Amino acid sequence: MQDAVSKLKEALGDRVVTDEAALKRYSRDFWPLLMMRDELGKEIQMPLALVMPGSVDDIKAVLRIARESGSTVVVRGGGSSVTGASAGGGSIVMDISNLNRVLDINEYDLTITVESGARLSDVERRLNELGYSLRHIPQSFNYATIGGLIATLSSGQYSTLYGNVEDAVINMEVVLPNGEVTWLRRNNAPRSSTGPPLKFLFTGSEGMLGVVTKAVLRIVPLPPFEKHGSFKFGSFDDGVKALRDLMVKGIIPAVARLYDDRDSMIRFNEDRPLLIISFEGHYEDLVGDLWGRARSVIEEHGGEYAGAGHFEEWLRTRFNVEDDMEKARRFGLWFDTIEVAATWSRLARLHEDMENSLMGIDGVAAVMAHASHLYLNGACIYFTVLFKPDEAIYGKVWDAAMSVAARDGATISHHHGIGMLRSRSMGEELGGAISIIKSIKDALDPWGILNSRRGMFFPD
Ligand SMILES: Cc1cc2nc3c(=O)[nH]c(=O)nc-3n(C[C@H](O)[C@H](O)[C@H](O)COP(=O)(O)OP(=O)(O)OC[C@H]3O[C@@H](n4cnc5c(N)ncnc54)[C@H](O)[C@@H]3O)c2cc1C
Repeated sequence: MQDAVSKLKEALGDRVVTDEAALKRYSRDFWPLLMMRDELGKEIQMPLALVMPGSVDDIKAVLRIARESGSTVVVRGGGSSVTGASAGGGSIVMDISNLNRVLDINEYDLTITVESGARLSDVERRLNELGYSLRHIPQSFNYATIGGLIATLSSGQYSTLYGNVEDAVINMEVVLPNGEVTWLRRNNAPRSSTGPPLKFLFTGSEGMLGVVTKAVLRIVPLPPFEKHGSFKFGSFDDGVKALRDLMVKGIIPAVARLYDDRDSMIRFNEDRPLLIISFEGHYEDLVGDLWGRARSVIEEHGGEYAGAGHFEEWLRTRFNVEDDMEKARRFGLWFDTIEVAATWSRLARLHEDMENSLMGIDGVAAVMAHASHLYLNGACIYFTVLFKPDEAIYGKVWDAAMSVAARDGATISHHHGIGMLRSRSMGEELGGAISIIKSIKDALDPWGILNSRRGMFFPD
């Protein structure tokens, strides 16, 4: 492997970094298991080298050297994966954050063309200055890159109204493992019926099938009008029924987050399930009408208006991840989040089963949840689990969570992806269809160079 590092240095000069402090930073991402190991002073496998390509040609050179030397390459954007997908142990880490230019903003066609290493917050700032937005705002807003969001099938806080990242992506340029560079089609028409849409090969591919180097995404004009508030419910189930009713009747919120009683106590000091909700658009009267209709539907399900303050509190604090981590540490605890999704008829059961099952594990201190990311036929439930920082407990939490999801007919991941964390459960999710993904991987990457380390994506 030393051979690979020397060849990289020969080809890329000082864009190859091997100093220990830098490699240590890239040995982990935001996967709570690796963060816990780091915090407890345990050893984490180091990357072979860090490469910071400055061009598509540099990326091609890295892939060529990996093919020739039999090394693996981990593509890295912002490193905010919570599943170990961008942790670099044992591989060459290719951090593409220097490829970060906004190449074009087309205000008439409502598209942006951007290099994939661009940070979402920078792209969004540029768009906001012109009165536009991607309206794709995940909690990792300040860390994530465009390429990382695409490669993990990300979902943002406004997904109910604007869709998920796959709905925003129109076209991509990718570098394939064999070094070929290609756009996925030769136009940016809003839709095309020309065979299976190739964008779906790369959205969610978690750096295994190719390196996304550029993307064309749809943008929206920033909506000038917005109305928000909150409602308390007698039970989580009543709140879920209200959300379903809103979706069925086409009263589509921009943001809707229904917290169960534990989550709402911790976040808002309210002892009952709490819904925070907003509507937005281009006409004040239309937004007002939506709000009025929503309020009656919510009240029919027992929701009681609880003012605008809770929504505003959420808006102010929604990216304060470090604070949440610090609070858990103060109690000698660690936490992880488990975002699953199911159809409406299964949500109440899923919520109850997950909480009971996780609370039954010795060492788990608290489980709380909120429902968000609504669809016509279901929603995501996002569980936060606090536990003693111990790997055995961590393993039990995930084993239990994945088997509850499978048993209750939920997906094992709504938006965080698979990475190293959920690989073992992929068979339960996809059944025999996992062989289709494996065949595509083998066809595009017969050398097994891209994100192919042990325990990544495919079960052993
Ligand atoms: C505090 C916090 C909050 C979060 N909130 C959300 C949320 O609200 N919604 C959500 O969806 N996710 C969320 N996440 C998860 C994470 O931010 C997302 O998965 C994000 O999409 C990762 O982007 P990144 O640039 O950091 O990717 P990385 O972590 O660098 O990489 C993630 C995966 O994508 C691959 N990849 C990265 N760039 C490319 C590329 N150019 N080409 C090919 N493959 C590539 C990597 O190899 C890896 O497999 C959160 C994470 C944290 C830490």
